[in-house]
Amino acid sequence: MGEIDLMFSKDMGKYDFGPGHPFRGDRFTNFIERFKEELLRERSRFEIVEPRYATEEEILMIHDPLYVDYVKKTAARSGFLTLDTPLSPGMDEQAKLVVGAALEGAERIMRGNCSKAVVIGGGMHHAGSTYGGGFCVYNDVAIAARWLLDEYKLERILIIDTDAHAGNGTEDIFYEEPRVLFISLHQDPRTLYPGKGFIWEIGSGEGEGYTVCVPLPPGSGYDVYTLVMDEIFVPLACEFKPQIIFRNGGSDPHFADTLTNLGLPMKGFNMFGEYMRKMSEELCEGKELDFIGSGYNPLVLPNAWVSIILGLSGINKTLPEPVNPPSWLDDPRLVEYTKSKVIEEIKLTLRDHWNCFK
Ligand SMILES: [Zn+2]
Repeated sequence: MGEIDLMFSKDMGKYDFGPGHPFRGDRFTNFIERFKEELLRERSRFEIVEPRYATEEEILMIHDPLYVDYVKKTAARSGFLTLDTPLSPGMDEQAKLVVGAALEGAERIMRGNCSKAVVIGGGMHHAGSTYGGGFCVYNDVAIAARWLLDEYKLERILIIDTDAHAGNGTEDIFYEEPRVLFISLHQDPRTLYPGKGFIWEIGSGEGEGYTVCVPLPPGSGYDVYTLVMDEIFVPLACEFKPQIIFRNGGSDPHFADTLTNLGLPMKGFNMFGEYMRKMSEELCEGKELDFIGSGYNPLVLPNAWVSIILGLSGINKTLPEPVNPPSWLDDPRLVEYTKSKVIEEIKLTLRDHWNCFK
């Protein structure tokens, strides 16, 4: 049994929005080369699995048929899903490869082929059931979760989204779903796309209390993130007792990312992986499905993505910063702000739903 499966295909490089766009296909090949360099000695612990394409029926588990039609037609004639997400012929099919990778990763975990699976290029969290955007076409995270609810009758799936942008699509899809606890750590939506993910967004109906948004001030670095993981993620995870943990997010919280304004250093990506490893081992026999797709500084991306995998696998190794840290990093006032204005507010807002916040 492979310990960690990497769902990866060279064809993922075809998920590419064209010259001048920050989401280019060579991101994947650059990562896989670095992965092989850094983890050559540990190769027996990993298996690279060539994923399949999802079927249209699988896409329809989450997405509205009208939206799927719209994607197909827009791609066929080359158009825009939204201004930041142009579609050229074949992109609708490429979006299905990411979903296929997520479904196969989930299945391999459930069948015991591996303990954890990493969907390289996954995490299309801005796609909702009737819309896409933010470089996302079909929501692989939500489709994999829905499949586990339906196929394996899971009752508790925890999704933690550590991408710099709020996971608005995933949030909308499960907003009324108590079997999915969605926790999103992201740059304050007043300062970044998609402009959603405020503390008061807590879910509705049966799902009230099962959406937890953690808006972080621009500049937030290692200490802010670990504080939030310890004060919000760990207690909620322990109380919720997930049967599997999903984590969504690539390297865009890094201080040198070109689309965002956060302050995470390289060791912060090891940290994400380590929390996932420890909590999944403590709560759900190590079952964790990881989605690594974002990151727009090509110098940072390969090391940061590999660092997440180092953390997931418990290998104690920190990769170098490809970019010098700026002078504004680690402002202690951000930790104070996060304690009093973010964490305390979240606990107050959710204290009727969670004993750990009483
Ligand atoms: Zn992002």
